[in-house]
Amino acid sequence: SNLQLRHVEGVVTVAAPPHAKGVTLGEPLSSDDALDPHHLRLVVPSHQFSQNALIPSPDKYLEMYKRSIEDPAGFWSDIASQFFWKQPWNAYSVFSENLDVRNGPVHIQWFKGGSTNISYNCLDRIVESGYGDKIALFWEANDPGVGATSLTYNQLLSRVCQLANYLKHIGVKKGDAVVVYLPMLMELPITMLACARIGAVHSVVFAGFSAESLAQRIVDCKPKVVITCNAVKRGSKTIHLKDIVDGALLQSAQNGDVVPKYPTHCEVEWVDAEDPLFLLYTSGSTGKPKGVLHTTGGYMVYTATTFKYAFDYKPTDIYWCTADCGWITGHSYVTYGPLLNGASVIIYEGAPNYPDSGRCWDIVDKYKYVTRYSRESLRILGSVGEPINPSAWRWFYNVVGDSRCPISDTWWQTETGGFMITPLPGAWPQKPGSATFPFFGVQPVIVDEKGVELEGECSGYLCVKNSWPGAFRTLYGDHERYETTYFKPFPGYYFTGDGCSRDKDGYHWLTGRVDDVINVSGHRIGTAEVESALVSHPKCAEAAVVGVEHEVKGQAIYAFVTLVEGVPYSEELRKSLVLTVREQIGAFAAPDRIHWAPGLPKTRSGKIMRRILRKIASRQLNELGDTSTLADPSIVDQLIALADS
Ligand code: ATP
Ligand code: MG
Repeated sequence: SNLQLRHVEGVVTVAAPPHAKGVTLGEPLSSDDALDPHHLRLVVPSHQFSQNALIPSPDKYLEMYKRSIEDPAGFWSDIASQFFWKQPWNAYSVFSENLDVRNGPVHIQWFKGGSTNISYNCLDRIVESGYGDKIALFWEANDPGVGATSLTYNQLLSRVCQLANYLKHIGVKKGDAVVVYLPMLMELPITMLACARIGAVHSVVFAGFSAESLAQRIVDCKPKVVITCNAVKRGSKTIHLKDIVDGALLQSAQNGDVVPKYPTHCEVEWVDAEDPLFLLYTSGSTGKPKGVLHTTGGYMVYTATTFKYAFDYKPTDIYWCTADCGWITGHSYVTYGPLLNGASVIIYEGAPNYPDSGRCWDIVDKYKYVTRYSRESLRILGSVGEPINPSAWRWFYNVVGDSRCPISDTWWQTETGGFMITPLPGAWPQKPGSATFPFFGVQPVIVDEKGVELEGECSGYLCVKNSWPGAFRTLYGDHERYETTYFKPFPGYYFTGDGCSRDKDGYHWLTGRVDDVINVSGHRIGTAEVESALVSHPKCAEAAVVGVEHEVKGQAIYAFVTLVEGVPYSEELRKSLVLTVREQIGAFAAPDRIHWAPGLPKTRSGKIMRRILRKIASRQLNELGDTSTLADPSIVDQLIALADS
């Protein structure tokens, strides 16, 4: 069944779009679908898939969604009661919020007065309910066939307690910050859980960052301790992390194998639901990274619930999220969300293309089947971080998932704590490239530049009305920047910084960052739309577009294009790429300039840094801005060198 979902004053209505053509899970999407600019092609869950899903139908979703919006206190209290609370929260004010700067300081609180511990809920609670011998973590080493290991929930609890005892012994107390600079070892989630256990606030810094970037974060959050390891292998390289930390601290940190001596039992420090759990910096795609603060209770309830429904979690699943714990995805969907559900999680130390690009599928099969790369065990696929364009979606669906697995394209942010707009795989038909509908309790609104809410089919600035439990509570040490960045642009709403359009069936399409929107002769064009059109060309591997000043049009589109390996640049190809955009979107969106790119500048979490591309496009090479989160700075030089070719 196809659904149309509209918010009308908090009420949700459904209607079937008459034009919808479906492909049922199990059938491939054909290449004709590449030329489906109106997104008529739906991918419909099979009857069997839906029947076994936690949310089996649009009606069930709508029933739950409606309640989550009309009675958020009741909806979230019922879910929160499934966790362990030493003291219950104040039943008369499950949450309190002010998102409107005109009414005083912005504040968000959930389950205030409730006392709990997320580490207890991830570990002790699972052990006590009889699953102590279930595998909590599988660890897969960088080098295939070397050193793979696992920990049961019982064992993980012991390891967490040992480290917690050690941290207490060296003087770490409730509320102290602990910087964690570790690669994807089991010690990384262990450290996060050990901090949480004693009420310390962890701040994980992605282990690919330089001494300078690490030092900046240390200066910002003033930790009592920095936890690292001597070295890590990533791909064929060995990276000496401890040396980098020493460089950052300019003094030697405590060293040695001390932790195993500590007792395997550690009393839990009960904390208030609103006590801070962690501090984490955003990816730095649009500027200097922001130190996002999340608290305990609401984050716990929200990550657990989004994990459960977006991935239709079944206790027999083995779950793998390839994100690094240095990013929010690794916090919410490697560590907390899955463990709160008692899931078995794979942690992979290395790079996805080491020793070759089959490694991911090798790992998938290893944990289920023996045949090389059958991927038969896959049930659901996920995606996050950037808009997944329809071409990539089709590849993921047809090739990786054998046209069998729904894709949860999850839109969210470091700030939101958990998924905000995401498919619930058994509930509704998907459209390749759309993040679909809001999660329970989330009210996305699309506003125009004056902040007026738009209805029906529309395009504009993506905001969120009202709080949700996983929302961040402040930017660490800078509540003013928190209000200015997120709540002042459109008073009364949380402003996401992203553009979004809603189609006539109510599906949401993320169009890119609003700072990146290009205005050609009065047409506002999102980056995602043009990039999707470019990559639908069979010879285009990746594309990023930016606006440059234009005398007549105001702005013109400037496209950086990476070609499929082995394809040479040519004038003919340039024309054919421009033609593809003209045909799919219209002449107004046709790029004026194609800049051949051997690669694109990306953050260390893999996001395209269009602000740097804008500077290259306009040849403002002395104003590249904060480049500390750039994964490979040499790409920038290569692009500059190719600028006039
Ligand atoms: P910074 O805030 O420092 O510029 P960042 O916004 O890239 O960095 P993150 O919090 O890691 O930091 O990323 C969130 C952003 O990623 C979103 O605002 C959105 O632009 C993009 N994003 C995440 N998931 C999706 C998705 N499924 N579809 C489209 N865009 C997405
Ligand atoms: Mg951001």
